[in-house]
Amino acid sequence: MPRLGAHAFVWEAEWTPATARRVVASAAAAGLDFLEIPLLEPGTVNVQATREVLAASGLGVTCSLGLPLGASLTEPPQAGIAFLEQAVDVAAELGSALLTGVIYASLSEPPQRPVGPREFDAIADSLRRVALRAADRGVRLGIEPVNRYETSVVNTAAQGLELIAAIDEPNVVLHLDTYHMNIEEKGFGPPIRSAAANLGYVHLAESDRGVPGTGNVPWDEVFEALADIRFEGDLAFEYFAGVNPLLARATCIWRPLVPSGDDVAAATAGYLRDRASGHGLRI
Ligand code: MN
Repeated sequence: MPRLGAHAFVWEAEWTPATARRVVASAAAAGLDFLEIPLLEPGTVNVQATREVLAASGLGVTCSLGLPLGASLTEPPQAGIAFLEQAVDVAAELGSALLTGVIYASLSEPPQRPVGPREFDAIADSLRRVALRAADRGVRLGIEPVNRYETSVVNTAAQGLELIAAIDEPNVVLHLDTYHMNIEEKGFGPPIRSAAANLGYVHLAESDRGVPGTGNVPWDEVFEALADIRFEGDLAFEYFAGVNPLLARATCIWRPLVPSGDDVAAATAGYLRDRASGHGLRI
């Protein structure tokens, strides 16, 4: 049965031992199964404290990131590979079976030009090395296509599947996000169905990155397709009540898009579970 979780920035904009306690308590109170912890700066995560607070709550964990400026996977790829290897190690130490997100590009600068085949292949080569290390540690990698204003590398499910095929390692999965799909895809059902064999993770995010259920995403189409493919991966809702400066710049969030408050998260979990169960998808 798929698990329902949420991104930690639903509550707080940074991950410290103090915010971890509050976020984990709130996520557990909202009835969630797991928490997605951002590893934007993996070296700063207090692994021991995080493990303790998660273990006490019974919540599962998943990790995500976007590459920082300078962590290139191409010419030369060493900095990007080193960053991802550290993130893989931290994810494994936290008990996460997945490291996902924009692991293939930096979100710190707007894209300037299309990515050619040589650069695409170089990214795939770098990610293959990271995938082997991740496999050793029992971690899968997720490729999250994001919209054209954030990257020129992977915007659609089809491009994500192309990158996964080029990496050619069994522990790499596709991670779709309904916010980005609303910008880049022709509908929601076709890309979800086309990715059935590779889809490992889904971000349930609204068209304006606000609270799911308040915008233009056709949730019935999303959940019907996920039910049709008998999706067994994890689903996380994603919005950012806590505005992290790195993430705000990467995602161009310039105004508050969600009310703060734990009741919003609990209501969102209830809303998404209701809509999913209407299509026979129990989360
Ligand atoms: Mn996302």
